[in-house]
Amino acid sequence: MKCPFCNLEMMEGYLKAGRYVQFQEMENGRKGQEYLVAKSFMGDAKMEGYLCPSCRKVILDIPLVEEPPRR
Ligand SMILES: [Zn+2]
Repeated sequence: MKCPFCNLEMMEGYLKAGRYVQFQEMENGRKGQEYLVAKSFMGDAKMEGYLCPSCRKVILDIPLVEEPPRR
């Protein structure tokens, strides 16, 4: 896959994280919504995708997660 920012070929692979991967929205310095990106019951959550080392960006396919964790 070509990087949409610089058009160089991106690295293909996956991002590893802990059991939960969450995106924390920030609105004017305060916490907004939390979005559960991935979760795993056994071991670490993995998200497959592409990385551009030159732009320092990652594009990930996020898996379907059934229910969000409680805040
Ligand atoms: Zn790039």
